[in-house]
Amino acid sequence: MTIRDLEKICADPFDILVVGGGVHGATIVYHLAKAGYRIAIVEKDDFCSATSANSLKIIHGGLRYLQHFNIKRMRHSITARREMMQLAPHLVEPLACMMPLSGKGLRSKGVMRAALFVNDCIGWDRNRGLPAEIRLPGGRIVSKEHCLEVVPGLSSEGLAGASVWYDALALNTERLVLEYILKSLDHGARAANYAEVTGVEQGENDLYRVRVRDNLSREEHQLQTRYIVNASGPWFEDLFCPPSGKHNDRKIKGKKQRWALALNIVSRKKIFTDYAVALEGQSRYEDKDAIIRRGKRLYFFVPWRGCTMIGTEYEESVSGGPDRLQVKRETIQNMVDEVNAIYPPAALSYEDISFYHAGLLPMRSGVESGDIQLEKNSTFHEHGDINFSRVLSVKGVKYTTAPHVAREIVKYFTKRDSGKRMRTPVCSAPAPGTWRNDQSQVHKMLQGRYGQRAVHILVRMQEEQERAIWLDEAARLLKAEVRYLIDEEMVCTLADLVFRRTGLGTAANPGRKLLTKLSVFMGDILNWDEARKAREVETVLQRYAPLEPKKDEVKSE
Ligand SMILES: Cc1cc2nc3c(=O)[nH]c(=O)nc-3n(C[C@H](O)[C@H](O)[C@H](O)COP(=O)(O)OP(=O)(O)OC[C@H]3O[C@@H](n4cnc5c(N)ncnc54)[C@H](O)[C@@H]3O)c2cc1C
Repeated sequence: MTIRDLEKICADPFDILVVGGGVHGATIVYHLAKAGYRIAIVEKDDFCSATSANSLKIIHGGLRYLQHFNIKRMRHSITARREMMQLAPHLVEPLACMMPLSGKGLRSKGVMRAALFVNDCIGWDRNRGLPAEIRLPGGRIVSKEHCLEVVPGLSSEGLAGASVWYDALALNTERLVLEYILKSLDHGARAANYAEVTGVEQGENDLYRVRVRDNLSREEHQLQTRYIVNASGPWFEDLFCPPSGKHNDRKIKGKKQRWALALNIVSRKKIFTDYAVALEGQSRYEDKDAIIRRGKRLYFFVPWRGCTMIGTEYEESVSGGPDRLQVKRETIQNMVDEVNAIYPPAALSYEDISFYHAGLLPMRSGVESGDIQLEKNSTFHEHGDINFSRVLSVKGVKYTTAPHVAREIVKYFTKRDSGKRMRTPVCSAPAPGTWRNDQSQVHKMLQGRYGQRAVHILVRMQEEQERAIWLDEAARLLKAEVRYLIDEEMVCTLADLVFRRTGLGTAANPGRKLLTKLSVFMGDILNWDEARKAREVETVLQRYAPLEPKKDEVKSE
């Protein structure tokens, strides 16, 4: 049985349809479903396969917003971070962050000590309701000697010590998004991946008729809904704001959004171990809104999955939209050079790069040249166009603050809702059956990946009583696990399995041999012919193409 059933989803009208299964769509559908709305979410590709899969994985409390004295934004980040940590404690862990201090001005120990104190006061409730093992300690200043132990080879000239504070690290941003969607299903929501909204028109009784294409079978469906939340990320202008200038939205006044390409690289080298280290870039950067300006962009070196993730670099995107997003070898090389200039002991070469993350982020309007200035706040707006007056478009700028945006949208609907809404009976998650908890290694491994959902896999294993439980022991992947992911978590392609559900391919290429084995196993369940099995492998390998030698330019996934 699969829970992805578009025909069934389209059978009854909804209060609200969410378009786009990135972090914004997922948090919005969860909060609205919890509030009792009859709601569905559709995603044209797989859940969390676009911008949200590319973040630096830091769920941050917004310490840097102190530069802007933006306490409100800090509170939004802190409460959103807490929500994510509460919702999926198995997918996040405390991350110690370190920034070396120069001893003068804004980088002096005195100023940073005061900033960390204020940060802790503003985040006084940051640990409320969190399990003890993931609570975030307060910030502190550490000695020059300790800083040099963590960041060896850093020039000690002018070095006074370092500031240390704690944020959360998302071990698997893709599963975190999925967790919101799965939890929304428990509250009666409906969801489908590979379901693309291709058109919207006014129907009867204040209902929109929405055309939805099944991107796997190519079948066309029609769905009815009173409201639409357009959370389609960098595609947000495609459906409701045609560039013809026909729409008269009051917030963006017909101006086409400009986008920046944001890039992180993943290095096989473990550059730092216990801390995410923030180091200043070489070129000048002026944050136009900051009251206190540092004049340089910060790069974070984040230890993750045994590698180091480094980011974030920005350049204006001229590639012509998110479907044609391209990462050039040259862009990756520039970033490698920048890292070596910032921290020469890293001694990175192109061959050290095992993966990259790239996505489009909205740029601020009105800043025509010079540094890339990104939009600072996530916003949502009604459409001025009479045909789309019950459509809300979201422009999200941070993974971390998505739950805050979602709560604001619930407030919006609560205010606007005339009380006519159809409440869905809340159907709780199916009982997984009973399983004897023996705290085995397999149990612990599954709990680390799936939290409470692990029991569903364990029950399957018990029922199926397979002699050989591993699909691939070296990759620590179980047969029952893959079957569960196909049946219960809408895995439809090999890329879904490798990039979004297990994270097997998110730090480095798992290799053709393993991919072929997985494709054969999945293909036997999903009735793929030999050509399809081979295609699935090639599609995954294509994602690593820019890292292969001798190619100038390759398309990103
Ligand atoms: C390199 C990089 C590093 C970053 N680092 C951080 C960080 O450390 N911390 C942080 O908080 N934020 C970070 N961000 C920002 C953050 O990742 C984004 O702001 C956020 O993920 C945007 O989410 P979204 O849901 O709005 O968009 P997306 O994730 O792009 O989701 C939109 C979805 O809509 C779908 N869609 C589009 N059109 C349709 C349609 N017609 N029908 C159905 N579905 C459709 C798309 O397929 C897509 O999946 C980073 C971003 C990048 C690129």
